[in-house]
Amino acid sequence: MDGQSYVSSTLERIKQISPGQTVFLQAATEILNSLQPLLDKESKYHKHRILDRIVMPERTTMFRVTYINDKGEACPHFGYRVQFSSAIGPYKGGLRFHPSVNLDVIKFLGFEQIFKNSLTGLSMGGAKGGANFDPKGKSDSEIMRFCQAFMLELQTVIGDVIDVPAGDIGVGGREIGYLFGQYKKITRRFDGALTGKGLNWGGSLVRTEATGYGLIYFAMEMLAKNNASLEGKTCVISGAGNVAIYACEKLYQIGAKPVTVSDSTGYIYDKDGIDVELLKRLKEVERVGLQNYTKERVNAKFTPVSAYPAGRNGVWDVPCDAAFPCATQNELNLEDIKVLYNNGCRLLAEGANMPSTLDAMKFMSEKSDFLYGPAKAANAGGVATSGLEMSQNAGMLKWSFEKVDQELQNIMKHIFDISYETSVEFGKPGDLVLGGNIAGFRKVADAMIDQGY
Ligand code: GLU
Repeated sequence: MDGQSYVSSTLERIKQISPGQTVFLQAATEILNSLQPLLDKESKYHKHRILDRIVMPERTTMFRVTYINDKGEACPHFGYRVQFSSAIGPYKGGLRFHPSVNLDVIKFLGFEQIFKNSLTGLSMGGAKGGANFDPKGKSDSEIMRFCQAFMLELQTVIGDVIDVPAGDIGVGGREIGYLFGQYKKITRRFDGALTGKGLNWGGSLVRTEATGYGLIYFAMEMLAKNNASLEGKTCVISGAGNVAIYACEKLYQIGAKPVTVSDSTGYIYDKDGIDVELLKRLKEVERVGLQNYTKERVNAKFTPVSAYPAGRNGVWDVPCDAAFPCATQNELNLEDIKVLYNNGCRLLAEGANMPSTLDAMKFMSEKSDFLYGPAKAANAGGVATSGLEMSQNAGMLKWSFEKVDQELQNIMKHIFDISYETSVEFGKPGDLVLGGNIAGFRKVADAMIDQGY
């Protein structure tokens, strides 16, 4: 069977055994299609039924999480941990707390995590978890009680050499703190079973900044290969969480100007450049919506979601040289990327997981004058620095900011180099979707063959 037939039959099987799991199917379609050239060349992956096996999680845990809100009411939620692959290391991946979370979403994230983690060059398997819980508008006590109830179940499947969760959307330093406190009480262990911990209790310097910084380091590598740079460039960013904030910060450090951020209420266009300190205060301390930004920056403009053109994400209307989607899945569609391209944008690197729809990805890959940095490569700096946190925990060490930042830069360069070299090996120089996916897959698939069934 040729690569194309093996891929199509596997995708068909996913549709049959996982009906209705549309984002998981989207992630699988994107990855499996890009593996065809490798599958054509190497029959061993088909012989060992690697595709059929890799698309099935090794273990899926679903559990009920009930906490008591401030009014004394019981609030039940669904909790998940999908342990996808332990072929190259302990399961590793974040937790997402968001009302949109369901098994489909966690499976798409967990599946992508396998390849992303492999690309970092570190020994980490792939997993993801979370709950359909919305931290927005909840008190600190409610967040604490939810995290404690969630960990009561999660602790049965995690551990420092078993499965190491971290943050994702809705799970930041505060949530990791409450989760870790509860893990420690139940297990009586102080170990590295979570990453993204506080700096004075086992956390790593640079972990907070890592995804955003890593994203910009990756974009710099992409441009350097083309003898260009981000210096003096106008950049648009979506999102206003951890990834967006620290991408903005790094852009300033290298002489570029971020002019937008967005959240669930709308987007800010600040032509003088986003005020990162104000953004940090609004999002990390006050935890309020972006409409508050213009109270202090009167020249900035806030556009509410209700004013976006139909079927579009308004933030992509702002003319720019480079775009960094840092919010969530499918936030950028074919129309959005056409507008960006026609307005002169020539680089897009993904800070969020799967932010571009399949047709938008195709558009970017086919443009010879456009640089596209796909998520699994471009946003791997977060999990890579989680890997560095695990190393420090295992060795009871604490590295300096400079050392962790240097390691992060080395890892982002490694990810770019291996993705680029693999794209050349398969005759598509610069196709980082193909190069990144094949490089990430090959390592995991070969480990699966080595380890038997
Ligand atoms: N949630 C992040 C990601 O999508 C980080 C995961 C981690 O550090 O384990 O890669």
